[in-house]
Amino acid sequence: MKIQLEDRGITIFESAIYRTCSAILEVDNNIFIVDPNTLPLEIEYVKSFIQKNYSAHKPYLLFTHADYDHIIGYGAFPHAEVIAGADLADLHDKNSVLNQIKSFDSMFYIKRNYPVLFPKVHHPILENEDKLIFGNTKILFYSAKGHVDNGIITVIPSQQLCITGDYLSNIEIPMVEYSFGEYLETLRLLGKIAEKYNISRFIIGHGDYISTQKEFKKRWEADIRYVSMFVSGLIEDSVCKRIISEKGFEEENHKIHQKNMDFYSIK
Ligand SMILES: [Zn+2]
Repeated sequence: MKIQLEDRGITIFESAIYRTCSAILEVDNNIFIVDPNTLPLEIEYVKSFIQKNYSAHKPYLLFTHADYDHIIGYGAFPHAEVIAGADLADLHDKNSVLNQIKSFDSMFYIKRNYPVLFPKVHHPILENEDKLIFGNTKILFYSAKGHVDNGIITVIPSQQLCITGDYLSNIEIPMVEYSFGEYLETLRLLGKIAEKYNISRFIIGHGDYISTQKEFKKRWEADIRYVSMFVSGLIEDSVCKRIISEKGFEEENHKIHQKNMDFYSIK
């Protein structure tokens, strides 16, 4: 499995599918396993990495949001306590998420050696700037709506680290399935967090993690520009095309853009 980063207790893994990122963060005597995914061998790899390096640590699973590609590995870690947004815990239609996993697996004839289940949340994140303390380390959580209605942003100030979920990807334009206005608010919040905690690393959902302020600014400004057009109602085709071509994977990003347009037109 591709490892994007291994540095001082932070390991970022990248799936071959959608370039979805998993991460393991060491915090005192705990580890946080973020969105473990996607293929069975990749999840096995993450598990054996934990066995090899962190067998004495207490495991927590941290889910950034409830999309199927992010919760797909849940059943492989039955001993981990789960941290996720209260909106994920209370999600109305859990079965439809599980059905997406089942249809993904059946499309590719994938068998898993663990049960496919929806996460049972031990530590629901209730409001903005909710926090949990682990040993000497404070972890902050913010609700992050827009892409979907159940996302959270996680900040570890002492490590200058932020986990965004599906925000700030370098390969995917903003995928807005809940609210353009709230997506914009979440991006603005990320700007404030970046500044307030002097964030030096952002772990994102798909593509490459962010390690410089320049890269953060580039992605942040492009995504703000894109989503603002929908909020203001002035959607410029040429700007959309430019942003799509900068992200690459143009065929797929055009499809996402079309879905955003469809969602916009029914709002
Ligand atoms: Zn995703």
